[in-house]
Amino acid sequence: MSSSALSLQLRRIVSSSSRSSCVFSSRRAFSTTLSRDATWGFIGLGQMGYPMAKNLRAKIPKEDTLVICDVNAEVAKKFVAEEQGQKVEIATSPLEVAQKSETIVSSLPEPRHVKDVFHLILKDGLPKLSQDRLFIDCSTIDPVSSREVANAVHSTGAGKFVDAPMSGGVVGATAGTLTFMLGASSKTPGLAERAEGALLLMGKKVWRLGEQGAGLSGKLANNYLLAISNIAVAEAMNLGIRWGLDAKVLGQMISSSTGRCWSADVNNPVAGVIDGSPASRDYAGGFGVSLMKKDLRLAVEAAKEAGTPLELAPKAQEVYDATEAGHAGKDFSVVYKYLQEKSK
Ligand code: NAD
Repeated sequence: MSSSALSLQLRRIVSSSSRSSCVFSSRRAFSTTLSRDATWGFIGLGQMGYPMAKNLRAKIPKEDTLVICDVNAEVAKKFVAEEQGQKVEIATSPLEVAQKSETIVSSLPEPRHVKDVFHLILKDGLPKLSQDRLFIDCSTIDPVSSREVANAVHSTGAGKFVDAPMSGGVVGATAGTLTFMLGASSKTPGLAERAEGALLLMGKKVWRLGEQGAGLSGKLANNYLLAISNIAVAEAMNLGIRWGLDAKVLGQMISSSTGRCWSADVNNPVAGVIDGSPASRDYAGGFGVSLMKKDLRLAVEAAKEAGTPLELAPKAQEVYDATEAGHAGKDFSVVYKYLQEKSK
């Protein structure tokens, strides 16, 4: 189903629920502390979600249950096998996760996956639980889609929905050191605090950026900058090396000068400059070039909605398109290799 068809379905869910009686009253005060023997849900056990769910399971009380779900059944089975002796259940659908859990984290690839999952969750109403449901969506999607889903969750009385996209990559997800950008309605006292408490089980920092959707705005602004700085560092390194400079010395010089940034200091695109960087292992792992393309596209769309120019975006999109064509599946710093291949 197309993304716009799903949007329409989400809107229908909202309008039909406002005509009929709500499954549970949204006027009730939102419960901020978790009960004993709580149930947690996790939807989307991918590169990020899998290690995040592992951290969650490790940090919630032993008596609590974690209900997991992924369209790839194998990955859920692997999780259970690795967590033997712990309270972990596999759900057959996102709906089952939402029916059972008070706090549900999702980490899905694109806007259409998030809309699809929430359409399934909301279409027939959810049973009331002893504690209010909190949906925490950590997927990087556009703020408009996120607000649409939040609106559907809130107006059907299914619970509360916050956006909490993340930064730190697979390494941060595994180490439990992610940074989250949180967008949560200020109309619900305690909502941001409860979300922050849950997120700190998987990360080390939560930025409260404002109302629902604000987390995504912050994330897309950051990743727009990252898209550009990655290309700029790759061009500068390529240029310096072709002038005869030593790559490692050049990298270190930039890192102690005004060109300093994450793309130079941590994720330098030239092999051998930073030990353990994706470039030093033939661009394996890391942040895939297609995910960078997706974030750039979302930033461009969101900027258009806001009537804000992004002058460098068209060129950057062109560079990532061409890079992906020759280096699909590699870390986005592989842009350096694309530039090298273009150099005469
Ligand atoms: P991924 O593609 O590895 O994982 C997504 C998971 O969702 C997959 O396991 C997939 O099977 C599952 N899924 C898809 N549709 C589903 C559905 N309907 N029901 C249940 N499960 C479903 O993606 P990822 O790299 O883990 O990224 C997740 C999100 O986090 C993305 O939005 C991405 O942009 C963002 N992000 C990724 C990174 C990174 O370094 N990989 C860093 C920061 C943010």
